[in-house]
Amino acid sequence: MASRDEDVSVTMETRVLPVDSQHPAPEAIAQAAQLIRAGEVVAFPTETVYGLGADAWRAEAVQRIFEAKERPAHDPLIVHLADVTWLPQVAAHVPPVAHELAARFWPGPLTLVLPRGERIPDVVTAGGETVAMRVPAHPVALALLGAAEAPIAAPSANRFGHVSPTRAEHVLADLDGRIPLILDGGPTPVGVESTVLSLVTPTPTILRPGGVSREALLAVLGEVAVRERPISPDETIPSPGTLDQHYAPRANVRFYTGPRAVVLPALRAAAFELEEQGEHVGLLIAEEDRAALAGAPGVVQTLGAQGDVTTIARQLFAALRALDAAGVSVILARDFGSAGLGLAVRDRLTRAAGGDVIRVA
Ligand code: AMP
Ligand code: MG
Repeated sequence: MASRDEDVSVTMETRVLPVDSQHPAPEAIAQAAQLIRAGEVVAFPTETVYGLGADAWRAEAVQRIFEAKERPAHDPLIVHLADVTWLPQVAAHVPPVAHELAARFWPGPLTLVLPRGERIPDVVTAGGETVAMRVPAHPVALALLGAAEAPIAAPSANRFGHVSPTRAEHVLADLDGRIPLILDGGPTPVGVESTVLSLVTPTPTILRPGGVSREALLAVLGEVAVRERPISPDETIPSPGTLDQHYAPRANVRFYTGPRAVVLPALRAAAFELEEQGEHVGLLIAEEDRAALAGAPGVVQTLGAQGDVTTIARQLFAALRALDAAGVSVILARDFGSAGLGLAVRDRLTRAAGGDVIRVA
């Protein structure tokens, strides 16, 4: 679509090309790979979220990702590899533990941070001395990597600060007119971004919880640290994906943590109070919570059964976008614990809330 807003970068026609998620047609992949080889950007599905990719060897191609997303230059990108044999081309040094983790979790939602190889341009690492990389577990992403014959630098395919896209229509809503092509492989199976694990710290450290759980990493590593998120925006932030106010819908998010027996009545009371004040409330809850909130005002969006954090993670971003589409002004969300993917869900909701976390006891 031509200029939908004033922005000069909204100038091109964005094509959406449907592909089978398991057996993508070679012609569709060839078209996407051709664009990557020509130094263009392409949105494609991974198992986590949709990515916006460019040839990682070419600074001017990667620069287009930043322009399309309006992403600040200090936020580094993840480099996607077709397989583990590409690792030594991207990282300067590959410790044995990286090979162990790759053997166990690749292809999969684990990103490793290693010393940067000299061929990687500055724009990919935001000038830093480390580079983040992974092999994605999605047939479309793997086919594209194979056909492009280059590593693909790709952050999530959303406008900077927005909720990450788990469907092609989310990408289109954010980037229509800014990118030439979206490969539509349907909804992404994991639904939250990869776990970012630094291997340059003395103890392997989770910089961002994601699709591979802390428990799964512990089983391989024996010891894993979890980096605390910065509490104030003016702290020095080595990995800007960890900024507060990220993954944010339009509505204000209030995130309630604590025992369910106390959280649900607190949500209920807040829903009544806010609607009284003229707000339009959205409730982000588990299936089992419906009964406790029956009769409360607002739009209810359930994520899954409360113990099923895998499903909850898969539904999370689409649910936030759906509540925005429903026109709510405030989203009241509950916590789902820290086990498994619960930690990633908690991280994203904390950031969607921009620090507006209410602990009830
Ligand atoms: P996105 O795919 O949009 O979540 O963006 C990629 C994210 O990967 C960044 O925001 C960081 O959180 C992380 N990342 C990329 N490169 C590095 C790196 N060299 N060190 C630490 N984190 C990184
Ligand atoms: Mg992102």
